[in-house]
Amino acid sequence: MSTDRIYNFNAGPAALPLSVLEEIRESFLNYDNSGMSVTEISHRSKWFDDIIEDAIARTKRLLDLDESYQVLFLQGGASLQFCMIPMNFLGNGDTADYVNTGTWSTKAIKEAQIQGKTIQVVASSEDKNFAYIPSDIQFTPNAVYTHITSNNTIKGTQWARFPDTGNVPLIADMSSDILSRSFDVKPFGLIYAGAQKNMGPAGVCLVIIRDDLLQRSPDTLPTMLNYQTFANKNSMFNTPPCFAVYTIQLVLKWLEETIGGLAQMEAINQQKARTLYDFFDASRFYSGTAEPDSRSIMNVTFRLPSEDLESTFVQEAYENGFSGLKGHRSVGGCRASIYNATPLQAVEDLVDFMQTFEQING
Ligand SMILES: *Cc1c(COP(=O)(O)O)cnc(C)c1O
Repeated sequence: MSTDRIYNFNAGPAALPLSVLEEIRESFLNYDNSGMSVTEISHRSKWFDDIIEDAIARTKRLLDLDESYQVLFLQGGASLQFCMIPMNFLGNGDTADYVNTGTWSTKAIKEAQIQGKTIQVVASSEDKNFAYIPSDIQFTPNAVYTHITSNNTIKGTQWARFPDTGNVPLIADMSSDILSRSFDVKPFGLIYAGAQKNMGPAGVCLVIIRDDLLQRSPDTLPTMLNYQTFANKNSMFNTPPCFAVYTIQLVLKWLEETIGGLAQMEAINQQKARTLYDFFDASRFYSGTAEPDSRSIMNVTFRLPSEDLESTFVQEAYENGFSGLKGHRSVGGCRASIYNATPLQAVEDLVDFMQTFEQING
């Protein structure tokens, strides 16, 4: 391992598996004996076709997707999905439910509203600064979909169990916990995730869409905003973000072949999260901000006794090789993002550092 690498707790773009970065480096100038870099080959070439097909096949295997789901790689980030979802699925007289669990849900709601779509915010945790995931929600029976944010990157909360919406398909923004745990995809009509948290570099958004929702897209939409455009052309209506898709392919291979799949990944992620939360629960210096039954296993948000101590902590942590621990600028405090690629060792070493910091400053 290169000794100049530090522990990266950034929220996104975020850490990638070192073995993936090394593989990219090794093949960067001459991809698969093509004599070209992967960034130089045509997206219409056999090389890229193999890359995207393998990325799709691995996504389907990892999430156990049946024939009714299509795997797409789009641009515009997760943020474009906030607008495309209501645009494609809600016609006149249609309604959809949204659960507001934080900053990203709020943005998704706003994008539906500014299009004049009819939506219901059926639950919100804004009353407690989004520190929990709502329960006992009354969903609208004839809604076209129910939108949730599976993991709230900024607030540090996560749905432990997905809500039961009966026959209404769930749509989830899984940007910050995609492929971090195994779950039943059947209730989901659409899942989307900006790649830069848990899958790859910035510049591509994974969209998994089920046929029943895909069929709703009206052909009056601008071509580039219609899901069918990308579904019909295997995400290659126009030039896809080739390098980002390639990196995702390697991350998926790492997940399947090195880690062993989602159950194994989840066990490691649980252990990492438990290491931090157990430490907070035993501490009077550090405190987690999310309610215990809503805690995220991906973004661990916490406070120190004062803002001064928090900024000293972030600074000294950085000097000791732990990067990215400052909380989101909108909420302050501290946050350790411990996505799939963050090793348990990084978390254990962080806890050691935190203990020492407490002894000196507590
Ligand atoms: C980061 C993030 C986004 C925004 O993603 P972009 O790709 O930058 O548009 C949306 N939702 C969640 C949950 C996120 O963590």
